[in-house]
Amino acid sequence: MRVILKECAWEALGDDLIVVHDPREAFTLADPEGRIAALLDELGRGPATAEKLSAALTARGFAATVADVRDGLDGLDSLGLVENADERWLGAPDADERHFSNLTFFGSFAGLHTSRAEFVRRLRDSHVLVLGAGGGGSSLVQCLAGLGVGALTLVDRDDIAPRNFARQFLYRHVDIGRSKVDRAAEWVREYDPGIEVRAVDRWISGPEDLKDLTEDVHVVAGGLDGAPDANLWVNEAALRAGVPLVAGGMTRTQLIYFSVDPGKSACLRCDESDLPDPDEHSSAGVAHRLTRGLRLANGLTGPMAMQVGSLVAYEVMRYLTGIEPPRAAGSRVILDLRNGLIPTWEPFPRDPDCPACALARR
Ligand SMILES: [Zn+2]
Repeated sequence: MRVILKECAWEALGDDLIVVHDPREAFTLADPEGRIAALLDELGRGPATAEKLSAALTARGFAATVADVRDGLDGLDSLGLVENADERWLGAPDADERHFSNLTFFGSFAGLHTSRAEFVRRLRDSHVLVLGAGGGGSSLVQCLAGLGVGALTLVDRDDIAPRNFARQFLYRHVDIGRSKVDRAAEWVREYDPGIEVRAVDRWISGPEDLKDLTEDVHVVAGGLDGAPDANLWVNEAALRAGVPLVAGGMTRTQLIYFSVDPGKSACLRCDESDLPDPDEHSSAGVAHRLTRGLRLANGLTGPMAMQVGSLVAYEVMRYLTGIEPPRAAGSRVILDLRNGLIPTWEPFPRDPDCPACALARR
């Protein structure tokens, strides 16, 4: 493998070497003999194998075996300073151009073991089931398409109406009256013909309606309008299929997203386990019963809808690429309009007897 140094600057300070890659931090490495500085110098000349670096360092008077160089490269890799030079691009000019920003973004997560190109390939090999092409779903579809997720199945049973326009930017005036998923699928095909997209214009009235849709998908994302228990149906269907679920939405003054990692995290049904009994004669019981009965008009508007959709898309990307662990698994992440949208985490309680978690395949 040829190794390449990421964008870095370094300078010796006494026996130390100061190295900056990400402007947010500087590494201070003990380098009394200047060996690390010499390795960085050689890497800075361009992509090189450990064998070539060993020869170059030895010629400079630093006796460095290939094994020594590999150790040094592993050290630099652990700091996120090097990556696989031959996998920074996909290797096809059109695809590299199309994914230029995705590849650049993944540069922050790439190393000697997982490359930028590999992260993009994982997305291209993925199939995401998107439930709902409304407020959050509209921006979710756009984000997933931008990332280059290879296959999307879009599910909704609604037609485009003028009241959607404050937050659903997949749709145009000329589309009023058309099926949302048909137009959403058309948008994806126009945007990137390389994405395989299927529109399912279907009303979901229980977990059984989701059964055929969750086969062969890698993540279920988004949420369903309508029935109060719709999220629990989706939770059950995703657990039964053994695939992660990522969803989000808005209450009156909070944006919320969450995810369920089947067999690993608590789920939405677990979350119900320590709610107060709505029939209980207590303030908590009455408040819970009243809250369940509230029918909030959907207050999502453009900036809120885009935010929810993009947070859900980012969590989906974590599951699909493995750049980092899912951040909302088994918890509700809340962005509160009353505190400037600073996120807080509320873990779901774990219910060891959860009937939904018992369905998880893995
Ligand atoms: Zn559960």
